Amino acid sequence: AAPISLVIASGRLAKRGIVAKEAGAVERLASIRTLVLDKTGTLTEGKPKVSFIGPLGLGRSSLLRLAVALESESAHPLADAIREEAERIGLVTPDAERIVYAAGGGAQGWVRGDHAVIGNARYVRSLGLEIPRDARRQAAEREAQGETVVYVMEREACAGVIGFRDRMKGDAVQMARELRRLGVQPIVATGDHAAPANTVAKALGIKEVHASMLPENKLELVEKLKRSGKRVAMAGDGWNDAPALAAADVGIAMGNGTYGALSAGHITLIFSRLQAITEAIRLSRLTIRNIR
Ligand code: ADP
Ligand code: MG
Repeated sequence: AAPISLVIASGRLAKRGIVAKEAGAVERLASIRTLVLDKTGTLTEGKPKVSFIGPLGLGRSSLLRLAVALESESAHPLADAIREEAERIGLVTPDAERIVYAAGGGAQGWVRGDHAVIGNARYVRSLGLEIPRDARRQAAEREAQGETVVYVMEREACAGVIGFRDRMKGDAVQMARELRRLGVQPIVATGDHAAPANTVAKALGIKEVHASMLPENKLELVEKLKRSGKRVAMAGDGWNDAPALAAADVGIAMGNGTYGALSAGHITLIFSRLQAITEAIRLSRLTIRNIR
């Protein structure tokens, strides 16, 4: 059974919206020296907005119509942003068929009888499609501004690029500062492209960044860190974070995250506050010190 002081600490944390599934998670938190952080929905609000529409050889609304048709069944935050933009300008969504979604990549299917694809460069290329130089140039410009970019393809040709902007959480800077004080090394691991990942990491003073990570890559990163003898925590919100959350010494799920993240994690941050992480580490260390 857990020492009574750990149970009391768990209760105090719960009042602050930090809910541990077992007192052992609070105990393990005390010895954490590395924290792997997902970007989208964890360090950022996870509510990206369409900030750029760059059609190639068709109209802006035709490009958006293709995108919204492909994303019609997707629960991804980028899909929400596209639907919101289409609604804002009053677009009618064309019929789409046989759409398949690839986690950490995008979607493909048939829009009005034509094969169409939306997603990041790796996904588009994995389907044997080529991204023309003018599309790549446009994308690079937007990425340099910290935007996330997806490509839209129609009948093997590039129909254009769409850029998104997501806001960093208000308490991210404070959390990063507190982590340094606590001697915990933060690492960013994201499915997003390197440029937007680096923009966020730089603003937080985080040096280690792993971009374009598939769910299994996040898991491998956590396992590798553990093998090097470190106690590792991982914070995330998405299905793509679930394997890494489960493998970490302490998996921390954002309360507004997906069911996958919530069930894989050991601790839930009900209000998705980032500073709750450093508060929890501080309290667990105090508690453990008093036990020993
Ligand atoms: P993160 O680790 O940042 O939460 P994800 O693994 O969910 O990111 O997504 C990684 C990348 O895969 C996105 O930045 C996007 O480029 C692409 N992607 C994933 N799902 C979709 C989708 N439904 N539509 C378009 N692009 C997508
Ligand atoms: Mg995420």
